[in-house]
Amino acid sequence: MDRRDFFKASIGTIGLLSMGLPVFAGENNMPKKRIQLSYKLYDLKLKHTWTIARGSRDIATIILTELECDGITGIGEAALSTSSRYGETQESVMDFLKKVDFPENLCLLEREKTLEYVDSIAPGNYAAKAAVDIALHDWVGKKLGIPLFKLWGLSKEKTPLTSFSIGLDSIENMILKVQEAEQYPILKIKVGKDNDKEIISSIRKVTKKPIRVDANEAWKSKEVALENILWMQDQGIEFIEQPMPTSHLEETAWLRERVNIPIIADESVGRLKDIAKLQNAFDGINIKLMKCGGLQEALKMIYAARAMNMKVMMGCMIESSVGISAAAHLSPMIDYADLDGNLLISNDPYHGAKVKEGKLILKDSAGLGLVV
Ligand code: MG
Repeated sequence: MDRRDFFKASIGTIGLLSMGLPVFAGENNMPKKRIQLSYKLYDLKLKHTWTIARGSRDIATIILTELECDGITGIGEAALSTSSRYGETQESVMDFLKKVDFPENLCLLEREKTLEYVDSIAPGNYAAKAAVDIALHDWVGKKLGIPLFKLWGLSKEKTPLTSFSIGLDSIENMILKVQEAEQYPILKIKVGKDNDKEIISSIRKVTKKPIRVDANEAWKSKEVALENILWMQDQGIEFIEQPMPTSHLEETAWLRERVNIPIIADESVGRLKDIAKLQNAFDGINIKLMKCGGLQEALKMIYAARAMNMKVMMGCMIESSVGISAAAHLSPMIDYADLDGNLLISNDPYHGAKVKEGKLILKDSAGLGLVV
């Protein structure tokens, strides 16, 4: 069975499963439509158990999509956060994708109209929407015969360096991971346990690289957060991401007045509409395609953040090269990249944007530039 048959079989399989019927591989019996969306589950295997303040995992299941029209196929992906922080599950993503039924006369080149239709299907479901948005952008790039960065008028020389993330672990293992990450010039360290200072000072002893710190909402008291950040800024930490829970906006604004390194919003920012209220509490935002619903929304967020004089970072979940390449094509517009999801896995289903000594490398091939 080739790749295309597998996707078609997947639609048939999911349909049969939902009807409680036995599962057969092969074509489904539905009449073929001009615009066809199909999807399948894929288990990404992590090189190391991935642990952050909220939980751990060894496998991250993604949902790969294919959008087919006029003989061109666009590839997309939905990836979920550790412990389903944003309320989506594999089932909810597939339920959403099942509902996508593009009008026959729709022109996919009209991205805004196409995505308005996708957005109108149901509220929320942003990872599922991103899976359609990414496949649509890949399709449009292929249709026009240009890489996505050219669609937005960007130059690939301006891609930033990406950080490489070190998940929470024993200090010995975190140091081993730092040593394994020798080829990456910037590190992002996850904290949020009771030995955060010990983690950072132990890592500082073995590397002089720029370090960014992500607390994933772990510090619940503003006094503890202040003490930690003041200590970390003395250790030369470049910035701190989401020190306090999203509900602690006033406390975060209080913190920001008292520290000298940027505070970047991650869990506090999903889509465009969230940015304005964060202006006093945060210096910048971390945009993730899986939180905002895809590239079209991400682009609007970048312009909005710039207008509010905020820094822009792009991050990711544990993702394959599909989602990472999509974000990488927008990365010439941003200040900080944390696009390492595909570097943490051992069975990437595609090759796309690469990382060379930390720098994101984009190809000139059409769309996302993915190769199986
Ligand atoms: Mg984060």
